[in-house]
Amino acid sequence: MTATQLQGVGVGRLAVVGPVIQVAPLPEVADDAVVERDGVALSADQIRTVVDEAFPAVAADLQQQAADATGTVADVLAATAAIASDPALRGETLKRIDAGTAPIAAINGAVEMFARIFTQAGGLLAERVTDLHSVRDRLVAKVMGLPESSAPSLDEPVVVVAVDLAPADTAALDLDKVLAIVTELGGPTGHTAIIAGQLGLPCVVQVPGATKIAEGTVVAVDAATGGITVNPDDELVKEIDARAAAQVEFAADTSPGATSDGHKVDLLANIGTGDDAERLKDSAVEGVGLFRTEVLFLDRTSAPTIEEQSRAYAQALRALGGRKVVVRTLDAGADKPLAFATLPDEENPALGVRGYRTVRAHPDLMATQLDALAGAAQETGVDPWVMAPMIATPAEARDFVALARARGLKTVGVMVEVPAAALQARALLSEVDFVSLGTNDLAQYTMATDRLRGELSDLLDPWQPAVLQLVASTARTGKELGKPVGVCGESASDPYLALVLTGMGVTSLSMSVSAVPAVRYALRRHDLATCQRLAELALAATSAPEARERVRDAVEPAVLTALG
Ligand code: PEP
Ligand code: MG
Repeated sequence: MTATQLQGVGVGRLAVVGPVIQVAPLPEVADDAVVERDGVALSADQIRTVVDEAFPAVAADLQQQAADATGTVADVLAATAAIASDPALRGETLKRIDAGTAPIAAINGAVEMFARIFTQAGGLLAERVTDLHSVRDRLVAKVMGLPESSAPSLDEPVVVVAVDLAPADTAALDLDKVLAIVTELGGPTGHTAIIAGQLGLPCVVQVPGATKIAEGTVVAVDAATGGITVNPDDELVKEIDARAAAQVEFAADTSPGATSDGHKVDLLANIGTGDDAERLKDSAVEGVGLFRTEVLFLDRTSAPTIEEQSRAYAQALRALGGRKVVVRTLDAGADKPLAFATLPDEENPALGVRGYRTVRAHPDLMATQLDALAGAAQETGVDPWVMAPMIATPAEARDFVALARARGLKTVGVMVEVPAAALQARALLSEVDFVSLGTNDLAQYTMATDRLRGELSDLLDPWQPAVLQLVASTARTGKELGKPVGVCGESASDPYLALVLTGMGVTSLSMSVSAVPAVRYALRRHDLATCQRLAELALAATSAPEARERVRDAVEPAVLTALG
């Protein structure tokens, strides 16, 4: 049998070989389907009651699933349950039924209305459309008296393939038997990807044609490349087995981040809550390089109080026991809209009042946050590093530094994630103690590419020469001025790019904690001079694939075997 290759967007670096099981979506129910019980059509009043009661029933089922799950899986199921409990969705559906619309058409119409609103809002909200559709499917099934899940029972370890998988669909599977998740839709930052990350499963999204693979066919799923190989040959199977064995080996290494000749590179974790910091207590990381504090503000109608914030910051500082913690001030707007801080009706929210710019409309939010952080510092006796997101000019950096220092915060920096900031690196670095490159946004703004559009991921690639040049010039300037230049975007978690960034002079790499072992392993096997040569090779390329290939061709072969 010949091998066929499908291509998608990989999440993480894991790889696995196994047989496919297809998870079909629930069968479509026609808009004008007749609602009946025991073969008898229900009356209009009965239908209204059945629909009305379906909402809390679906919410309760999802809450139960959330209660049975743990960690991120539980969180995303609870968030899906919240959609089913939303009075606006229920109200809109009943309004349509009262106006004479057939029940299934009413549910579909109301859901599509909210899906449009979510899609137009963009960003994280747009990614919730999958959850909204999952709620719709459950409502329709409940109203029709049909099964509410198409999750097959799994007899052996399998690669689960679907058009898309909502968290509730994923949670309904016997996760011990899931080897990998492959979807035709979904984004690399969507809930399926997040859940797969938490479960340590290889995941590839945006794979056209995946649902055409026959059940039982053996595939190799490689999240590092986003490749799905149908009927892989023995050589590829051996390669993937070798990777799995190496991953077990390097997961056990807890030494500090450094090149083989001892050049230190802090390996740090990205977190969103004080609880995340607690989970890092026993992790081999040098600290936290990005505390995304907006996570404390999401899904709320008003800002958390100074006491609440102080508690969360103190929890993180205490949990890390004196290790470095870089707290980022509120990054509201664009893909992280907040009811009380985001301007309504912005035509281009990613270019609007987001990040540090929120201070223009809501100086109180920044003041409270810095007061809360200063309070946490005082209470714990630990000095946090603090930085502002989305800084575009040296003047903004100066103003932020003044605000932070006025509260006694000692180590103050800014993020470099707007090309203007990178181009002004010297003036910017003169104002601050450190900078941290947010390569997710730096790629978005350099390449004029919405960071959440899976289908444009080739443009958003941090290996794009234009992005690499901005990173390199910022790192070079930092070195000249003797100030730390970190990277806290997703690019830091790519072990090959981590070598390049180190060669450019980046002093710390911050990433999701699960990515740290592979990066540590790659660094350990190269000296600084080699990293510098790899940086030169990448910078001389004229395209992202060329940069990546040049570097892969020049790294230690053992690293390629281990990391793919
Ligand atoms: C980034 O933009 O790279 C970054 C780290 O910030 P966020 O992803 O939270 O926007
Ligand atoms: Mg950013």
